[in-house]
Amino acid sequence: MTLERAEDALLVQRRALTRDEAMSVAELPLDDLPDLIALAHRVRLAYCGDEVELESLINAKSGGCPEDCAFCSQSAHFKTGVDIYPLLDLDEVMEAARATRKAGATQFCIVVAVRGPDDRLLDKVIDATLKVREETGLEVATSLGILKPGQAEQLAAAGVRRYNHNLESAREFFPQICTTHTWEERVETCRMATAAGMELCCGGILGMGETLEQRIDFAFELAALNPVEVPINLLDPRPGTPLGARELITAREALQAIALFRLILPATWIRLAGGRELVLGELQALGLYAGANALIIGNYLTTIGRAPEADVALLETLGMPVAGAEPGEGRFIVDADGAHPMPPRRPLLQIQRR
Ligand code: SF4
Repeated sequence: MTLERAEDALLVQRRALTRDEAMSVAELPLDDLPDLIALAHRVRLAYCGDEVELESLINAKSGGCPEDCAFCSQSAHFKTGVDIYPLLDLDEVMEAARATRKAGATQFCIVVAVRGPDDRLLDKVIDATLKVREETGLEVATSLGILKPGQAEQLAAAGVRRYNHNLESAREFFPQICTTHTWEERVETCRMATAAGMELCCGGILGMGETLEQRIDFAFELAALNPVEVPINLLDPRPGTPLGARELITAREALQAIALFRLILPATWIRLAGGRELVLGELQALGLYAGANALIIGNYLTTIGRAPEADVALLETLGMPVAGAEPGEGRFIVDADGAHPMPPRRPLLQIQRR
């Protein structure tokens, strides 16, 4: 009855689940996972359609971050052996953007490992954004950490479509993974990004030791910020970090969480990101049937992903078109003039939140 009630709420009444309803679904035994996945897939199709959005990342400045996020190999607090380099020059960013385009993705995210950008870094990212958009037609997202007043407006004016700033985990759990800034500071930056007119990309990492209840809280906390996209990373414990010896979340728990996020965030792009290869292994397709409708392709910030062609081939097998592909053009969009018509962003169904 629990799943039927959730289905009735989301697909008949078209209203958001309450926390109690979501918790009841979460408490179903993992042996019921196929039914939960089937419901998440129906909800995804009803609210978002069958398209899958592809994005690649460039780690434009790696390592040496003054913050102490316990999962992160780029923190200067831990000895992880990660590459440390200053901001890449424009040519290197453009090379990555061209490769992104060639791989069939439509989104390109420029990520820098800092607490927040200073003026010089912001100017360089703005220059890169303008050039990437002009030359490749890719939609640009940026992930530059905690913003100061006025910076979000500058990014929006340069055409940054989406700003990524993850809450990382539930408010209650966050102090266990970071002491150098607060969860509330992260929320503040998310609000600045939205107020400046950028789409908000905001998610986090599962499997850091949070409880199932905290995962549900986390999804509702994200929903309250109304993100366009929620990236879900599955902890890939990095040697040298405080979470380096943590056991992996199981594939079944990860699929359960992805499906629950879909039920709580029915109209959002839910993007499978770092750790998906490690945790889901050959069950990548199930991640896309469990409600995810976006992928990071290629490599992650400090870890290796799988070949983009493998993901594109998987989508073809599943009959899930790449978002942004024009009918008749195949999966890849390479307009002569670089223009890149994007699909409508409005969800197919709207959700009523109480
Ligand atoms: S997650 Fe971001 S803010 Fe935290 S240590 Fe890593 S790069 Fe720095």
